[in-house]
Amino acid sequence: MSVRSVVPGLWQVPIRYVNAFILDDGDGLTLIDTGMPGGHATILEAIRSLGRAPADVRRILVTHCHSDHSGGLAELKRATSAPAFMHPVDAAMVREGRALRPLSPAPGLLNRLVCRFLLPDAPTEVEPTAVEHEVADGDALPGGLRAIHVPGHCAGQIALHWPGRGGVLIAADAAANAFGLALSPMYEDLSEGRRSLARLSALDFEVAVFGHGRPILSGASKRFARMWPPAR
Ligand SMILES: [Zn+2]
Ligand SMILES: [Zn+2]
Repeated sequence: MSVRSVVPGLWQVPIRYVNAFILDDGDGLTLIDTGMPGGHATILEAIRSLGRAPADVRRILVTHCHSDHSGGLAELKRATSAPAFMHPVDAAMVREGRALRPLSPAPGLLNRLVCRFLLPDAPTEVEPTAVEHEVADGDALPGGLRAIHVPGHCAGQIALHWPGRGGVLIAADAAANAFGLALSPMYEDLSEGRRSLARLSALDFEVAVFGHGRPILSGASKRFARMWPPAR
C-alpha cells in the first residue's frame, strides 16, 4: 500500500491501475475519485496512514462516472458522511447506478489493444448513489479547486485546477501518463476530447496528475501545450 506525496498537501493513492487523490488544504480533506468497486478500503487505509480519520473527509469530488472512478463512492459516503460533487451529466448516471457510455479506442495499436482487453470487463454499473452537488465549468469548489469541464473521454468529465504550489492540474482521464503523456486510450468523442485538452493546455500548471499513470512534477503545462497546442 503506497500513498505517494505529489506536492505538499496532495497525495496520490494507487488502487491497482487507477489513482485516487487526497487533498488537504487546511480545511479538512477533499477526496478526488474513489477507485473501482471495492476501492474504498484502500482509500480508507490511505487516510489512516496519513494519521487522519474518515470523518476528516469533508467532500468527495468524482471526476466522471466510469466505475474505476465512481465505484467506491457509495461506500466512501457511508464511511465519511461527506457529500459528493460531480458534473450534472455524470451525476445523473451515478444516481441511477450507470457507469459507462459507448467508448471507442484512440488512434494507435496500443490503444486498440487496451480497449480490446479492458473494455469487455469494465463494469457498466455501480451502486446507485446520491450526488449532492453539481459542478459546472469554471466553478470554484471548496478545497481551493476550480472545475474545468473537459468532455471527450466522458461527457461529464471534469478536471481540477489547484492554483497552489505553482499550479497543479488534476487531469483525471482527459489524458493519461502511463506510457508517457498521451491521449486516454478511449473516448466517447475524440475530437471533443482534443478540444478539451487544448483548453487545459492554455492553463498554467507546474504539476499534473492523472487517473492512470505517473504524475508530471515540473513543466507540466508546457508539455501539454507541446502535445495539444492551446486554444486561444
Ligand atoms: Zn474514464
Ligand atoms: Zn479511468
